[in-house]
Amino acid sequence: MEEKNLKISIAHLYPKLLNLYGDLGNIITLTKRCQWRGIEVEFEQINIGDKIKNHDLYFIGGGQDKQQEEVAEELYSNREEFLAQRDDGAVFLGICGGYQLFGHYYKPHDKDQLKGISLMDAYTVAGKKRFIGNVTVETDFLSPKTLVGFENHSGLTYIQGDTKPLGNVVVGNGNNSKDGFEGGRFKNVFGTYLHGSLLPKNPHFADYLISLALEKRYGEKIKLSNLDDFIEVQTHNSLINKPY
Ligand code: GLN
Repeated sequence: MEEKNLKISIAHLYPKLLNLYGDLGNIITLTKRCQWRGIEVEFEQINIGDKIKNHDLYFIGGGQDKQQEEVAEELYSNREEFLAQRDDGAVFLGICGGYQLFGHYYKPHDKDQLKGISLMDAYTVAGKKRFIGNVTVETDFLSPKTLVGFENHSGLTYIQGDTKPLGNVVVGNGNNSKDGFEGGRFKNVFGTYLHGSLLPKNPHFADYLISLALEKRYGEKIKLSNLDDFIEVQTHNSLINKPY
């Protein structure tokens, strides 16, 4: 199937509350990498109170505990819809605070536990230390294998059951600085602590997510054409194994 005649629908979940450290750059990257290939993008910003419509890809960024509280309630009230979308093959990408709410719960330091929507079998508890710095991750499903970004979180996330990590931490702390894992993935749900924003400097992961979303929409694998990623790849490679 020719990529030029294709369409993809992308939803940005609660950007007025969860959009820390330029996480919007992930939406811009996904949109541009589709449009540069002639793939039409239908985009919807979903805010508090909005109905959750069908989309091929849902993105949610990071935020402070306070903003997470507000979004957690809204996410939980729509959890059945999100779980149905997950089981229908929709792609989800959650960054940090958004990622934490993909699990069963997030327990902040001095506040009641926030319910997650259980898109993946994981949970998060606030740690005593804030992890801040660059992260390099080695995955087993991307080519090149590496993902780079930076982390700023006190939450400690533990993945379990069928949830796989996004990859192994080479530099940085990742999920909890103990098990060596960074991020989580289950079905087409991906969560990570990598801000940066993540996708502009990891174009291979952006294309991986776009391919999954197109496969969900059209029911077949669609090979994406190559783009001139000289600058993106230079940036990516310059950050590999760099702690700061
Ligand atoms: N408030 C959460 C934490 O500190 C998430 C922070 C973020 O999204 N960067 O772990």
